[in-house]
Amino acid sequence: PLILGLESSCDDTAAALLRGRDVLSSVVMGQNALHADFGGVVPEIAARAHAERLDLCVEQALDEAGVTLTQVDAIAVTAGPGLIGGVLSGVMLAKGLATGLGKPLIGVNHLAGHALTPRLTDDLTYPYLMLLVSGGHCQFLIVRGAQDFTRLGGTIDDAPGEAFDKTARILGLPQPGGPSVEAEALKGDEKRFRFPRPLLDREGCDLSFSGLKTAILRQRDALIADQGGLTLQDRADLCAGFQAAVRDVLMEKTRRAIAAYLDEAPADPALAVAGGVAANQALRAGLETVCTDAGLRFTAPPLRLCTDNAAMIAYAGGEMLAAGQTADMTLSARPRWPLDKRAAPLVGSGK
Ligand code: ATP
Ligand code: FE
Repeated sequence: PLILGLESSCDDTAAALLRGRDVLSSVVMGQNALHADFGGVVPEIAARAHAERLDLCVEQALDEAGVTLTQVDAIAVTAGPGLIGGVLSGVMLAKGLATGLGKPLIGVNHLAGHALTPRLTDDLTYPYLMLLVSGGHCQFLIVRGAQDFTRLGGTIDDAPGEAFDKTARILGLPQPGGPSVEAEALKGDEKRFRFPRPLLDREGCDLSFSGLKTAILRQRDALIADQGGLTLQDRADLCAGFQAAVRDVLMEKTRRAIAAYLDEAPADPALAVAGGVAANQALRAGLETVCTDAGLRFTAPPLRLCTDNAAMIAYAGGEMLAAGQTADMTLSARPRWPLDKRAAPLVGSGK
């Protein structure tokens, strides 16, 4: 079937057309320029931009795919979690399209979209282990099916992408912080500053990243107090030390998540990573080592499908459609929507 996917839960407006695993088009309109002056995403500005751009996005996606709206077999839309204004715009448009075309409506959890993406780009069988590391999320999931997830643990405060962005801000590096901190780290010595590896003494897979930024801030201020400023080498060494700390805790917690996952003796054990932070080469190398040691396959979707996009929503929608998991006009937009089997079901009305 030909599936139209819509995504508008954060600061990217996106539409995509998929037939099976064939991405016919995937349009992403970012909003970085709109929020740049505010040091973060402004919900009100984001909501307005989504409302203004969604139909444009759909038109462009249809155009690029070379199909017409009447050929679409189902509409998949992010129904949460996220900034409610944007999610509402997407859900309203999807309901309108589904009603107008007389085609099924599918309400997709944004996190399920990220978590299923490795199946769009690789031959992964259920259950696989997923590490989602982005600007807003950090969690380990056992993915058992299109709407069957077990959360093994995750961050108790900041997400790693947020920590990269804050570190960049503290050190006067450009946003988004991930790529600029990574580039600096390449020139630095990760051993010069030893930053904390939080929660390693605590059992399980939970993580914490908020203490790290305080440590960076203190170290920066200490250097400034000592020498009157930061040299370029100081900055590179701070970035290298920070990145090593993030890599090390994620490696150790991944080892633990793998142990829990292997307990179930999966047929084709694999770890998939997704989210913007999965672009980090040092982290990737660390995770590959962990997987090799544990006898797991390691896979990471290409970055354009790792960060927010609508192809992942269309793909997840396709799996749900095949399983008969469609929604009706009571589908609601949810600001919060945890991804776990104990959470509310992915179909029907959200209360
Ligand atoms: P979410 O998708 O969870 O709602 P988001 O949209 O902010 O949040 P993504 O678009 O997946 O997240 O990723 C953006 C984040 O990834 C930013 O915080 C950015 O700094 C980080 N990032 C991007 N490239 C790198 C990199 N090379 N190393 C580390 N972090 C990176
Ligand atoms: Fe996302």
